[in-house]
Formats: sequence, structure tokens, C-alpha cells
Amino acid sequence: MKKQCGSDSPKCLTPKCERAANSCRGLCSACYNTAKLMVDNGEASWELLQEAKLIKPPHDKAHRVFREAFSSFMAKKKTNKTRVRIATKVG
Ligand SMILES: [Zn+2]
Repeated sequence: MKKQCGSDSPKCLTPKCERAANSCRGLCSACYNTAKLMVDNGEASWELLQEAKLIKPPHDKAHRVFREAFSSFMAKKKTNKTRVRIATKVG
């Protein structure tokens, strides 16, 4: 039986990077952090990195769940802010 490369310990997608991929985008943590920094700094975007085949596309279902969780958090945050603002105005 031939063992498939990357079946049980996938490597980072970055060419020449020999580290094991341990993030959901198919990168090792070092490459993922670099990618995230570049996105945060506006040097790149996740879409561009994906187009360059440097990262894997996000898992659709997980992505949607994450968005939902975040939007419900933001909705709560907004409600709290509004309440605080109103309270400050009245008080
Ligand atoms: Zn890497």
C-alpha cells in the first residue's frame, strides 16, 4: 500500500515551507500568521491569496456558522451601545 503524500500530516501550502499545515487554510501557523498580517496591513486580501493558490478556500459551512456567530455578537454589542448611549443622554 502506497502512502499518499499529505494524507495524515499535510504540509503547508507555501512552496518551500516544510512545516505541517495546522490551520484551516492549509498553512502552518507561521505562514498563516504572515498571511493574516499582510491582510491586516492591507498588503493582500484573503481572496487574492486564494487566487494565488497560497491558501485553501474556507469551508463554506464553517464560514457561514462563523459569520452567524459574529453577527449575533455584533447585534448584541450594538444593542448594548445604543442602550448605554440613551442612558447617558437621559442621565
Ligand atoms: Zn508554512
